[in-house]
Amino acid sequence: MEEKKENALSNTGNFIHSYVQEDLEGKLNKIHTRFPPEPNGYLHIGHAKSICLNFGMAKLYGGKCNLRFDDTNPTKEDTEYVESIKEDVKWLGFDWEDRLYFASSYFEKYYEVAVKLIKEGKAFVCDLSAEEMREYRGTLNTPGKESPYRNRNIEENLDLFERMRKGEFPDGAKTLRAKIDMSSPNINMRDPVLYRIAHATHHTTGDAWCIYPMYDFAHPLEDAIEGITHSICTMEFEDHRPLYDWVVKEAGYTKNPPRQIEFARLGLTNTVMSKRKLRALVEEGLVDGWDDPRMPTISGLRRRGFTPESIRDFCERIGVSKANSVVDSGLLEYCIRDDLKAKAKVVMAVLHPLKLVITNYPEGQIELMDIENNPENEQLGTRQVPFTKNLYIEQEDFMEEPVKKFFRLAPGKEVRLKGAYFVTCTDVIKDKNGNITEVHCTYDPETKSGSGFTGRKVKGTLHWVSADHCVKATARLYDYMMLDNPESENGEMIMNENSLEVIENCYIEPAIEEAKPGDKYQFMRNGYFCVDTKDTTKEHFVFNRIVSLKSSFKLK
Ligand code: ATP
Ligand code: MG
Repeated sequence: MEEKKENALSNTGNFIHSYVQEDLEGKLNKIHTRFPPEPNGYLHIGHAKSICLNFGMAKLYGGKCNLRFDDTNPTKEDTEYVESIKEDVKWLGFDWEDRLYFASSYFEKYYEVAVKLIKEGKAFVCDLSAEEMREYRGTLNTPGKESPYRNRNIEENLDLFERMRKGEFPDGAKTLRAKIDMSSPNINMRDPVLYRIAHATHHTTGDAWCIYPMYDFAHPLEDAIEGITHSICTMEFEDHRPLYDWVVKEAGYTKNPPRQIEFARLGLTNTVMSKRKLRALVEEGLVDGWDDPRMPTISGLRRRGFTPESIRDFCERIGVSKANSVVDSGLLEYCIRDDLKAKAKVVMAVLHPLKLVITNYPEGQIELMDIENNPENEQLGTRQVPFTKNLYIEQEDFMEEPVKKFFRLAPGKEVRLKGAYFVTCTDVIKDKNGNITEVHCTYDPETKSGSGFTGRKVKGTLHWVSADHCVKATARLYDYMMLDNPESENGEMIMNENSLEVIENCYIEPAIEEAKPGDKYQFMRNGYFCVDTKDTTKEHFVFNRIVSLKSSFKLK
């Protein structure tokens, strides 16, 4: 029944919308969602899916969305991550207004609820070790066994729990467990642990606590405390939902309790998504930090040159469902091309320069060629590009012995230089090792671009820069970070050793001098590039290739 409804709605929104609409027609006046990251790493594109969903849903239905740091685990969390997460959510274009919360600020409240549960005989202090607890828990096919400490009386439980809080016991010596049902078919309901002892310093509460609530206990309470109506999470929590509902109810939040809804997490081809694995890459120095432009992190994508618009568009296109899937990275690339197509200025940059000398062009003459900034967007206007006797073209645009269908430059062949003249190759100059160092051409003054020349046609148009005016820069070309698909079943994490190619000397037309860190351009025929925000200096540009112009990816 539920399946059917989800499919029927897939065109008009997703199944979460239908739940929300149903609730708004019923008992709810407004919705309230939250995005609850744990500050133990930087956000990635999977989180963007959740952010777009939670903030997007709130916006669509005139509700609210909180940013809440789920910081109940002291060991791996850090304020560096808190700051980066705030920056990334803002950059994606979402606003939590005055609703920035920390789960750690509710520690006293969780404790109160735990005491209430003990008093009602619904929780007990257990002395089983982690290993013993595993043995007692049973399996999917066999029921669990009750802990020998399950029937401690309320006074003893209250006393022990208080002493746990005071720090009288070492880590692992005791836990507080819910008293639910050791024979439940759902293992999550077999007297789950609510609190554990951890003598660890927390990034916001310092040493105030040495017992910490488990995720399954804290999360429903956080949602209930904040008045969340729809608690949207990923599929792996589906089996935890009965426990979520149990905690909310037993804590006394019975009026409009939050409703947990699960959706499939995003995986992308040729990359890893889990924070644990991303952290490992950073810590092992295999990448240039969390914001390495190859990383699927928001900060990595931003540094690479992705725009918030392109990421939001991607999240829109992938949709939301309950079926786990790994999305083709080509779709993300499609979205950034689509966004930059009419926005980015198109300039000429030569990645692998080959000198081209026009022997019949006057020495010292400079012509300023008017070239449109973006053929797809007239509003971006035109710029003037200096044309001189000495130019650079792309090495691969010349072949001394052209293969079939090579329509670019070759001895005796004529091509058009973009926005300038037709040139014909007359000579090839080589060094003593036989490497080509220059090609010599003649130009035909009749063929000037814009002159209306129709005498003859050429098949190839090449980009070029003036050797006397170009700007030297570094260009970094990226390939996928992983060879395999680590996010798919049996996928392995094998780093692509050729995922970064650095070109130290590429030559760009002088218009680029106005570029600022973060600016994006199309380099004609070579792809979209972004001025690197970290390594660019006043004297030297570093460009990251966001994406090439062509792809084998097809929109379905
Ligand atoms: P990871 O496994 O990468 O550490 P996580 O789920 O532990 O992810 P959290 O910080 O707890 O990371 O996630 C915050 C929110 O983002 C959660 O609601 C979670 O469901 C969602 N989220 C995390 N990863 C993805 C993903 N790949 N696709 C969609 N949503 C995700
Ligand atoms: Mg988590």
